[in-house]
Amino acid sequence: MRIANILAQRQTFSFEIFPPRGDLPVEQAMSIATEMAERQPDWISVTFSAGGSGNTGATSDIAARIQHETGTNALAHLTCLGSSRADVDSFAQGLIKSGVENVLALRGDRAPGREVIDFAHANELIAHLKRTAPELCVGAACYPEGHVEAANLAADIEQIKAKQDAGADFLVTQLFFDNELFYRFREECVRARIKIPIVVGVMPFTSTKQITRMAFTCGATIPAAVIKRLIAAGDDAGAQARAGVEYACEQLRDLARNGVDGLHIYSMNKPAVARATHDALVECGYLG
Ligand code: FAD
Repeated sequence: MRIANILAQRQTFSFEIFPPRGDLPVEQAMSIATEMAERQPDWISVTFSAGGSGNTGATSDIAARIQHETGTNALAHLTCLGSSRADVDSFAQGLIKSGVENVLALRGDRAPGREVIDFAHANELIAHLKRTAPELCVGAACYPEGHVEAANLAADIEQIKAKQDAGADFLVTQLFFDNELFYRFREECVRARIKIPIVVGVMPFTSTKQITRMAFTCGATIPAAVIKRLIAAGDDAGAQARAGVEYACEQLRDLARNGVDGLHIYSMNKPAVARATHDALVECGYLG
């Protein structure tokens, strides 16, 4: 089913997986996805790697198998830096042939060897997909604290509007740890006449090291409430991970109370994280 149609009916709940490295990424991903599917998410998204992490090509295979073997809607991510029109067309037609109806259209991070070929920005990819593969429902990324390369939030929101104008059907946010920043961003989007649904992405942090890396790679603010919990957890790896899941569940309950369009869990390929966040949303009444 097209994600835009689900969002038109109800608040959604979804998980993300990434194709694991190694020789059997599809089988490993399927075992994770099958466990997640037991919680009946509205969709499971599958990230895309333009190279380097060993999972190139796995995205469309895993998305197709999720769709058919678990009966859950799949959302295949696609990045366009370093890709030609022919590459994009082949990916999109492959999805359509295999019955996957949803794609998240992204630029991808800049990296050596990943130069602009036919698409410089996500809005160009979105326009191309809408023109050449109208069967697909197309999502796009947005950044409640602004994308790291953007001069400021207002400039970045203009580019989100360009994605809507190019035909994006819905947005998914980057992770953030301070809900107030999201609520302010949502107001700014209304002011900028962004009308498509905004699905909120939440990532339970797993350790002090990992959340610090996140802060540096995507510019996410780490609030004092998170720092205090990590200080209390000390060097205990298990306590740090538990603090991450607890904090994410609190974030999710607050977001649920504040009427979001959808909640998406960056579940880090961990079915236990998927279960804990799902339980929190059942307990607070977001999920029936
Ligand atoms: P763009 O929309 O092109 O924006 C990039 C920057 O350029 C921003 O600063 C923006 O303000 C600016 N900009 C946008 N359009 C224009 C324009 N027309 N002219 C001038 N400036 C412009 N990466 C992966 O490699 N694989 C994944 O699977 C993946 N999944 C993601 C899922 C989500 C929900 C999110 C939020 C991010 C994901 N990413 C993924 C990371 C993403 O690829 C990076 O954040 C990337 O740096 C930007 O992608 P974008 O699609 O937002 O790019």
